[in-house]
Amino acid sequence: MVYDVAIIGGGVAGLSAAVDLCSRGYKILLLEQRPRFGGRTYSFIDEKSGDVVDNGQHLLMGCYHETRRYIREIGSEHLASLQPSLHIDFLHPEKGIASLDCPRLIAPLHVLAGLLQLGSLSFADRLKLLRVGVELQWTSTEKEHRLESMTVEDWLVSLGQSDQNRKYLWDIVAIGTLNDKPSAVSALLFFRVLRAAFLGSPENSCLLVPRCGLSELLVDPALRYIHSRGGEVRTSCGARTLEAGKERIVALLCEDGSKIESRIYISAVPYYALPGILDGKASESAAQFESSPIITINLWLDREILENEFVALLDSRVQWIFNKSRLFLKKGKYAEQYLSLVMSGAGEFVGMDKHDLISIALEDLQRAIPAARRAKEVHSLIIKEKRGTFSPKPGTESLRPSTKTNLQNFFLAGDWTDTKYPATIEGAVMSGKKAAQEASALLV
Ligand SMILES: Cc1cc2nc3c(=O)[nH]c(=O)nc-3n(C[C@H](O)[C@H](O)[C@H](O)COP(=O)(O)OP(=O)(O)OC[C@H]3O[C@@H](n4cnc5c(N)ncnc54)[C@H](O)[C@@H]3O)c2cc1C
Repeated sequence: MVYDVAIIGGGVAGLSAAVDLCSRGYKILLLEQRPRFGGRTYSFIDEKSGDVVDNGQHLLMGCYHETRRYIREIGSEHLASLQPSLHIDFLHPEKGIASLDCPRLIAPLHVLAGLLQLGSLSFADRLKLLRVGVELQWTSTEKEHRLESMTVEDWLVSLGQSDQNRKYLWDIVAIGTLNDKPSAVSALLFFRVLRAAFLGSPENSCLLVPRCGLSELLVDPALRYIHSRGGEVRTSCGARTLEAGKERIVALLCEDGSKIESRIYISAVPYYALPGILDGKASESAAQFESSPIITINLWLDREILENEFVALLDSRVQWIFNKSRLFLKKGKYAEQYLSLVMSGAGEFVGMDKHDLISIALEDLQRAIPAARRAKEVHSLIIKEKRGTFSPKPGTESLRPSTKTNLQNFFLAGDWTDTKYPATIEGAVMSGKKAAQEASALLV
């Protein structure tokens, strides 16, 4: 059988391409190397607690327009809730909680008003934040080039941001969105993220919070959608080689020895996997990307120590605490307190063993939340995503390949392609949809 489109890689990018092509009535095959779909967004039931555990907590935003369209299309929109207005609690071990609370005003006034009331910063420092707000108002090709060669830290310093502003606000946002140290990553993607979130509709800056596991939100409903429209999916079926002729891919050979023929091929594999299946220009640039790890420490405690749904933790090694007992609709056996503690850009911690990481997590919790000193750990589970995302170091943006390749019937998708976003669900969904659009333009 000859498919219309064969899609390699069943993460969000591949699923998004498959959903789009199925909605247009094309005959697709979606191949995934692992025994399960979802790539870097998946969840599973933890046997001991009975709770749903994500491979890592994911936050989405109102400005994730393509992702929101995707979950609407596959029917899982009701499983994530959008904040009515941007609200983030920052917890400092000594100073307690300060909230960024943005009133319902037109953008960007809502954020400016919120920032001006942020109690974790002095009034003089808060005024300095306005300088970043002004800087976000305009962009140009020349400015983008300049930002691409600067680090986030250099950019913020050039805008007069004090140590406190960086430490207690910008760095938390930058590490969370770019997954590496502000002193290491390019200012361009940070600038674009802030513009996407803070300009346009005030809804763009609100957080979109999953109320279920990632598979339930992004993966399983997509697979049902694909099945119901006649699409074919295979797990444990890795692509081994894309056979390229002079101008086209002629066939796809799989690790199990099977050969797949299709009119069009889409690669939705990560940067580190592409060079293994295809020689050529895109693979050469993919090989130059660097990865940055993310560690999630899931802790189950014998009592509730936190009421907030999530907090950013300041002056700590853990950056965010997500209160799964409050966030998730379904509860497991240890309903008292199930927390997910996130360490992004976790290069210096990724080599540590479970015991040391749990000690760090408990120490950070006990410093910031007095009630944690009386709580007992009943269960824990650590997930290290060693290649969590690519690290957007200065110069990386020019390596990101576009959807079209020099082979007529071969397109690229994935969070690492030229989406203009950092490695995010939104970038992955957008890239899959764009590859699907290019494919359908050839198929008509
Ligand atoms: C812990 C963690 C937290 C994150 N937090 C956030 C967040 O809060 N917000 C956000 O927006 N983003 C977040 N991200 C980033 C987000 O998860 C990714 O950007 C997105 O999931 C990437 O999707 P993708 O489809 O491009 O790649 P992947 O999800 O990596 O999918 C690629 C797929 O290709 C498969 N594959 C590889 N080689 C082959 C082959 N030869 N044949 C067949 N299949 C193959 C892989 O097995 C995989 O399933 C986070 C990531 C991690 C790891």
